[in-house]
Amino acid sequence: MKTDYDYIICGGGISGLLLSVKLSQDFSESNKSILIIDPDFPKTKNDRTLCFWDNKNTVWDGIITCKWDNVFFNSDDFNKTLDLGSLTYKMLSSSEFYNYSNSIIKNNKNIEVLNSNVLNFTDNKKYCNVKTSNNTFTCSKVFNSIIDWDEVKAQTKYPLLIQHFEGWVIKTDNESFNPEKATFMDFSINQDQLTQFMYILPFSKNEALVEYTLFSKRLLESNKYEAAINKYLNSLNINQYKIISKESGKIPMTCFPFFNKNSENILNIGSAGGWSKPSTGYTFKNIDKQTTRIVEFLKSHRSFDKFISKDRFWFYDLIFLDVLFYKNHLGKKLFSDMFKKNNSKTIFRFLDNKSNFIEEFKIMLSFSKTIFLSAVLKRLFNVF
Ligand SMILES: Cc1cc2nc3c(=O)[nH]c(=O)nc-3n(C[C@H](O)[C@H](O)[C@H](O)COP(=O)(O)OP(=O)(O)OC[C@H]3O[C@@H](n4cnc5c(N)ncnc54)[C@H](O)[C@@H]3O)c2cc1C
Repeated sequence: MKTDYDYIICGGGISGLLLSVKLSQDFSESNKSILIIDPDFPKTKNDRTLCFWDNKNTVWDGIITCKWDNVFFNSDDFNKTLDLGSLTYKMLSSSEFYNYSNSIIKNNKNIEVLNSNVLNFTDNKKYCNVKTSNNTFTCSKVFNSIIDWDEVKAQTKYPLLIQHFEGWVIKTDNESFNPEKATFMDFSINQDQLTQFMYILPFSKNEALVEYTLFSKRLLESNKYEAAINKYLNSLNINQYKIISKESGKIPMTCFPFFNKNSENILNIGSAGGWSKPSTGYTFKNIDKQTTRIVEFLKSHRSFDKFISKDRFWFYDLIFLDVLFYKNHLGKKLFSDMFKKNNSKTIFRFLDNKSNFIEEFKIMLSFSKTIFLSAVLKRLFNVF
């Protein structure tokens, strides 16, 4: 095996794989030598269900499992079928994504893979070093998707909430679901002073993914997730069912500026690059967007520390997370107020960081003024 490459990608998960695919599909990048380092390569299992809203027709349509034009928001005193406009809510299983990427990577002779753990990497300006358990490699650019949770936990300036969840794909004896409509968030469950909700992605009248999700500071004991899903299914009168598969996971929800760790030749990508939307945890579409940007950015020969910077959406997320971190029980009210008082198309544009000032101002007005103003003032005096 050689020891010098153009690019080394640390971590061959969703962002590392999608970046490799896009580099190999680009005319001027496809001849670059790439090494992907990941102990678990090739991933094939359906270890995560990736949902996102997007235009009706996109490149992903060939491999998505399901899509819904109608999504539903539910809370105790309020429910609404959300108007997605020109968007569709889509579900991509990671196994399909891994198959798709692995087949492209396998056919590119310039991409090599090493099953190993990355121990560290450094930018020496003229070249980078990447150290694994058995080797040291050099390269021009490093793309790192290995998240350092300890680093985020060790600081207090940017609160860290964890989006954690367990989901079951179940098959019911009776017709229990409406396959035309996904439940985006159901806050009707007991909040227990936390922010927690269920969602349902129905594949047919008898089959759906039912997922229990929390935005909170700490994980639950493992039996609590199961108990909550059982209770929820009972409340829907779904008692006869078979569990087909289970998934669980956690996503960082933080405005910790991961991008400050980017250097001239090292770029942090995926969740490790701060690409998970801090206020929602949605990441996949951002990975899709940012990996396309990287391919173009490489042509400019600019330093990677210029790749991402703070914008006003980062600040909105920061305020939202400050509120949820210190008053975690408010999540249900905040999401309900937002969906009750705003047009859903505007909300999805806002969550995609594509809204304009007037739309954002209207969304801010739907929240309690005292809570948000005090959070804004606290930040303005502490951060800037
Ligand atoms: C169960 C689950 C469901 C999700 N659902 C959604 C969703 O519906 N919509 C959405 O937008 N986002 C979702 N996400 C969030 C996000 O899209 C995924 O976490 C996505 O995998 C992030 O991609 P990534 O490349 O940052 O991380 P990963 O895909 O986790 O890739 C990181 C890679 O680094 C490797 N690695 C770790 N340590 C080392 C090391 N020392 N050396 C080498 N390699 C290492 C790992 O093996 C892994 O392959 C979900 C996440 C999970 C966990």
